[in-house]
Amino acid sequence: MVIDAHVHLKHGDAAATEYPAETIVQVMDAVGIDRSVVFAMSTDTRHAMEMAAAAVTQFPDRLIPYAYALPHYERPVIEELAEAIRLGFRGIKLHIGECRLTSYLADPVFRLAGDMGAPCLVDFGGDLKTAERLATDFPDTKLIIAHFGRYLCTDPLLMRECLAVAERRPNVWVDASGVVMPWIVAEGVQRIGAGRILWGSDGPHVMPDLVSFAAEPLRQIRALGLTSEDEAMVLGGTAARLLGV
Ligand SMILES: [Zn+2]
Repeated sequence: MVIDAHVHLKHGDAAATEYPAETIVQVMDAVGIDRSVVFAMSTDTRHAMEMAAAAVTQFPDRLIPYAYALPHYERPVIEELAEAIRLGFRGIKLHIGECRLTSYLADPVFRLAGDMGAPCLVDFGGDLKTAERLATDFPDTKLIIAHFGRYLCTDPLLMRECLAVAERRPNVWVDASGVVMPWIVAEGVQRIGAGRILWGSDGPHVMPDLVSFAAEPLRQIRALGLTSEDEAMVLGGTAARLLGV
């Protein structure tokens, strides 16, 4: 089973890299992806939750929802996240591009995620000190570091530091979406094991076209020369185990 562990769901506004559930499933069918983790961003937690819930109601056998954590001046978001997980959302997304990950913002989310057994997928934008601080302070929370540390990273030292954090912290998994140097995934399998690496497309995206955008990174993983067991874990087994799907 191939699981895309990182897909952006359109929330109704005009974000260029987000698409409705129908488009996501069309791409999955064309590429050979069985299931996809979906989340909406660039909107508040309640709206992101409603969008993901609607998408999963439409394609319950294909899409796996994550909630999106963003502070709100008028509402206690932590209650909305708890509600989402009770409703069957499998994880929580946080993004340093939309919300700082200082302790007063990130810690309540990590505490809830640990208590409720929901992994946190976090884009740290290269801030691996914060990643390690959260993984250390919340050892019962499963942390998935997005993009091997930083989106489209071309710095091997940073990606290797991401693996080092995972080596030191057993509650850390690594998301291999948005990776432009795919050999780091093979190195990761050697260092932390395929059971802690999750492939994702970070799509949909129209460049070069919707299908190629997901098919190409999938092809790159299959070209790494991993054992068939390790490849199967990276491409879906790890996500299935981590998310209980
Ligand atoms: Zn993303």
